[in-house]
Parts: sequence; structure tokens; C-alpha cells
Amino acid sequence: MLTPDQLWQAVLGELELTVSKAHFVTWLKNTFILESADKRIVVAVPHTFAKEWLETKFHKTISLIIQNVTGDIKEIKYVIQPDQFKKQALDSVNKPTSTVSDIVAPQDTNINRSYTFDNFIVGGNNELAHAAAQAVVSNPGSAYNPLFIYGGVGLGKTHLLQAIGNEAIKQNKSIRYVPSETFLDEMVSSLKYHKIDDFKQKYRQTDFFIIDDIQFISGKEKTQEEFFHIFNTLYSANKQIVLSSDRPPRAIATLEERLKSRFEGGMIADISFPDFETRLAIIKTKMEQKGHSFSDDILSFLADNIQNNIRELEGALNSLIANTLLRNKEITIEDAKDILKNIINNNVKQQSVTPKKIVNIIVEFFDIDVKDLTTRSRKKELVLPRQIAMYLMRKEINYSFPAIGEILGGRDHTTAIHAFGKIENELEKNEGLRRDIVLIKERLYNQ
Ligand code: ADP
Ligand code: MG
Repeated sequence: MLTPDQLWQAVLGELELTVSKAHFVTWLKNTFILESADKRIVVAVPHTFAKEWLETKFHKTISLIIQNVTGDIKEIKYVIQPDQFKKQALDSVNKPTSTVSDIVAPQDTNINRSYTFDNFIVGGNNELAHAAAQAVVSNPGSAYNPLFIYGGVGLGKTHLLQAIGNEAIKQNKSIRYVPSETFLDEMVSSLKYHKIDDFKQKYRQTDFFIIDDIQFISGKEKTQEEFFHIFNTLYSANKQIVLSSDRPPRAIATLEERLKSRFEGGMIADISFPDFETRLAIIKTKMEQKGHSFSDDILSFLADNIQNNIRELEGALNSLIANTLLRNKEITIEDAKDILKNIINNNVKQQSVTPKKIVNIIVEFFDIDVKDLTTRSRKKELVLPRQIAMYLMRKEINYSFPAIGEILGGRDHTTAIHAFGKIENELEKNEGLRRDIVLIKERLYNQ
């Protein structure tokens, strides 16, 4: 029987293999089990971002790993315990040997060497982003500055950003890759300990400034202000800036207008869902990298059933590999179906959500007509349902903004982007809206 601590260490061990070093260090490394009782565990995390991140990005993986280690846990919760983490952070800032240069990880530690252009599969979904990424490596600071790559979770943004980093390192360029949350934390502590000039200097010396998941900067005014200055300094020194986000700049709620226009001043490229062929090619590459092989019907089964998230596709592959090792014999397609039934069920559930279903549930919920959603009318009681429809098509099924505009009465994509930002923003302060959306989502997934 494992102690909670051993259990969590086992989970972290597995996660460490699946996420980048930077992500692991920022979000996961110091988390621990706070409580464990009645088939339920509570995990302590340092801040809201870590909580959100674990809940949205890692919950499924964590549950699966825990299920594999012990079938005994039914519920996992994440709670924010800043006090428990503050001490660690202070210790690291106050250490006599710790300077700002320690805060920013050295060149060879914050990039995952395995994310390269070589093993990035190019398909229709990421062609533009891939081409732009290559262009900034061969022509830093000129052609596309900044390069802004956006797309849904697990679709290859971090891989591409790190590929830029790896390629730049090969060319002896200096680079900084940071998840935006790490960057912001460092900036805040530099401000607090009056080291902001050192901090800026550090970044000024770099050829490539790569910042991942910039959407987390949203809403923090002081931080945005400071970031704006750093951005300008680097930009006017012709340093290459690369940013990623889960949505385009316009749709980042409460992002300062001048930052939006800065981000829009360069090149914006999106990554959407890969088609079947691309998914299959990716899964084959991953399989070879891991030194395993599965039959074509198993690979097709994976590519067929997991469509929305490459990370999940890779997670499924990892489960199959783990099972093969455990059983010490090749697995069949039937075994694979059985091993992956939870993952696949969730995906099937998600696939059952379509734009049409969203529309139907919204008109039913607000007691309006389908045609009310597509008319030009600006009546308040129609505008809100329409915006919620747009928001859900993006958030739940990741439709592209142009496609959403098209579905809802042939509107321009900027209308869809605006609606998305509006609802996200509103959700932060409007309890009633939050409740409505929860109810709508319940119907969406359970009807
Ligand atoms: P994001 O940052 O968009 O959430 P990641 O870059 O972390 O997604 O990608 C998730 C996983 O999927 C990574 O293991 C990555 O290598 C893999 N992946 C995504 N797209 C591709 C691709 N086009 N070719 C190869 N691997 C990919
Ligand atoms: Mg990422």
C-alpha cells in the first residue's frame, strides 16, 4: 500500500515524462498531497493558475495515472495554499547566491530538447504557424515580429515555440523560453526586490524572447504595464519575440488595448485541429520516438477516436506502451479498446456536441427561435444568447472564429472574436451568467 506521498511522487514521476521541463518546474514540481481520506485526495497548489492548469490540462492524465497505481481513489481536488509555497519562493529569492540570472533558467535547462522541427508533423492545420516559425528562425527580428501563435489546448503550440528555441540554440543564438506565468512571477519578485533593471537587462541580451501562454497576463494591470515596456525595449532593439496563446489577441479578455495592437502588429498564425492523416502521422512519429510499435489497426483506432487534443493522443499511446510492458506481451486491438475505454468515452461525449446542438439548447434555454440567433437584430434579449452560442462553439468544440461567424448568420469573424472576449470577461464578474452557462453546458453534455 502506497502512502499518499509515495502515490503523488509516482504521479509526478509520470507527469515529468509527459510535460516540458519548464512546465513541470513551474506548475507541478512542488505540489503535494494535503489530505487523503475516503477515496478522495486533495492536492495543494501554489496559485490559481496552477489550479486551473491542473484542472484543465492535467486532470485526466492525473486520474488515469492514479487509477493505474491504485484503483482506490474516486475524487481528486486541487486547492490553493499560497502560504505553503511562499516560503520556498522567498528562500529562492533571498538566497545569497540567487541573482536574477538564477531566476531565469539557464539556456540549457528550460527548453525541451525533444521538441524540434524535425519531429513536428506539418498538416493543413498548422502549416502557416509552422512556416512562420521557420521564417523567424532564419530571419529573426525582421519578417514576423512579434510572431503570435494561437490555438486550442494540446495542439502543438509549445512544441513549435520550443522548436524555434532549439533551432536558434543550434545557431548559437541566445534565447529565453518562459511560460508567461513564470515570467510574470519573476517580474513581480524583481519589482519587489528592486531588481527590475537587472531583470530587464537579462532579457535585453537575448536574441529570441519566447513566451508561452500569454493569455494568463490578462487582467493584471500593473504587470501588463511593465510587460509593455519590456516588449517595446526588445522590439525596438530588433529582438525576435514569439508569443503563444489559446486565443487571438482580440479575444483575450481585459488585455490592454495597446498590448493587443502590439501583438497584432506582427504575424498571427493559428493552429487548428489536425485531420485524420496528420493525427496518424503524429502518432507514428511519437511511437517511433518511444521505440515501440503497434499494429496499424491500433494506430488507426487511436487517430480515429481522439481528435481534439494531441497531448491526449500521446497519453493514450503511453498507456498502451505501459500496458504492453506490464503484460509483457503485444496487445491486440481488443486490449487497446479496453485499456482506453475511459479516454475514448470522454472523447465520444465531446464529439456529440455540435454547433447545431449548441444552437438547439440555447434557443430552448432562452425560449427564443433558431432564426433569432441568425438575424441582424441588436435586441438585448437576442444579443446575449447569440454571444453565448459563439462563446460555446469556441470554448467547447474549438470551432474557428470565421466558421462560428458563418454559422450564426454569416457574420464576420471579428464579431465572433468580440463575442468570445465579451462573455469571458463578463463571466469573471457576473454570477448569474456563470450559472446560466453551467446549466447550458450540463444540457449540452447530458442530453
Ligand atoms: P499546446 O502547447 O498547444 O497545448 P503542445 O505543444 O504541448 O500543445 O503539444 C502537445 C503534445 O502534442 C506534445 O507532445 C507535442 O509534441 C504533440 N504535438 C502536437 N502537434 C504536433 C505535431 N504537429 N507534430 C508532432 N507532435 C505534435
Ligand atoms: Mg502549451
